[in-house]
Amino acid sequence: MLHLVGPVAANVRRQSTPMRTASCSCGQLTAIVVGDPVRVSVCHCLACQRRSGSVFGAQARFPAAAVTIKGESREYVRTGDSGGQLHFNFCAMCGSTVFYTLAHAPEFIAIPVGAFADPAFPILSTRSTSTACTRGWLCPKTSSTCHEVHATA
Ligand SMILES: [Zn+2]
Ligand SMILES: [Zn+2]
Repeated sequence: MLHLVGPVAANVRRQSTPMRTASCSCGQLTAIVVGDPVRVSVCHCLACQRRSGSVFGAQARFPAAAVTIKGESREYVRTGDSGGQLHFNFCAMCGSTVFYTLAHAPEFIAIPVGAFADPAFPILSTRSTSTACTRGWLCPKTSSTCHEVHATA
């Protein structure tokens, strides 16, 4: 067995393709992803607030081929404002949404960023959707314009 230590091990880790695991609260349902997300977005719409229980939804999009799902999930289908259907998949044991698919973009799988529970998760190519931040206290200094601030962050 090859053991790598010190700077050599660090270099190998940096150059290898990252693998990350998103999980529900109880751990029964997981999504293992290879590579970085192609897009990370933040949505302030009320439907995303209701789904996530937070004041905005943050999700990362991966090529479907880069995602391996393990465990049992239930599905909830919601029709978005633009008419497209979103298929949310959640753990039947604990209720956490671990991934969802978009009928108009089947080549991607979206995963809530929080499901990775990873403070170092790469926030690449962030975009913000829906009209504006709906919570002034979230960004009190910028209030109604914080939507644009998030979009360029
Ligand atoms: Zn669970
Ligand atoms: Zn939304």
